[in-house]
Amino acid sequence: MNIVLLGAPGAGKGTQAQRLVRDFGVAHISTGDLLRAAVKGGTELGIQAKKFMDAGELVPDQLVIDLVKERLAQEDAQNGFMLDGFPRNTVQAVTLDTELSALGRELDCALLVDVPYPVIIKRLSSRRTCRECGYTGTASDTVCPSCGGEMYQRDDDKPETIKNRLDVYEKSTSPLVEYYRGQGILKTVDGNRDVDVVYEDVKKALNL
Ligand code: AMP
Repeated sequence: MNIVLLGAPGAGKGTQAQRLVRDFGVAHISTGDLLRAAVKGGTELGIQAKKFMDAGELVPDQLVIDLVKERLAQEDAQNGFMLDGFPRNTVQAVTLDTELSALGRELDCALLVDVPYPVIIKRLSSRRTCRECGYTGTASDTVCPSCGGEMYQRDDDKPETIKNRLDVYEKSTSPLVEYYRGQGILKTVDGNRDVDVVYEDVKKALNL
């Protein structure tokens, strides 16, 4: 199954994706995670991407597209993938369709995790991330409940950057909802509920 996860930053895409990986072993391709790893590793891509990420802006399309192409070619993505945080605009969505069709593959579903903006702002402000395993927790998690690693607040989860990220989402990413609706593959779940309840709906939407 080839899936695109859609939704504003903080909607819970990553959390739902972690559960799908745990239960079904689908390859989880998070461009945010890949970019953060590049920044941490001090690679050329990381150096170029960091200033955009810190400002809450999108990293230039070609950098992200190359990263995704490379990742999709890996062994574990051949039997299905779940893209999280990509595509983020129409150029990326059209490029993805073109790349997949050249490979004789296609998307089965674009799953929108829908959460109202005021809830998103509250969530992002209290979100903490594990430096070691990327686990997503809240300000009350002093150490990572999953691996015991150090929890930190991402620079782009600081208040001054959150507004910009939501503006970018509204302007560049939200039109993809109509793009995928037009393709007849959009499914929506209400993400403003307990994660376990949302996960039940996610599985139903994906026929899992
Ligand atoms: P995320 O973890 O998905 O919220 O991504 C964190 C940051 O990485 C974003 O605010 C962007 O700066 C960058 N990023 C992630 N995915 C993309 C993408 N598909 N296109 C451009 N920039 C991206």
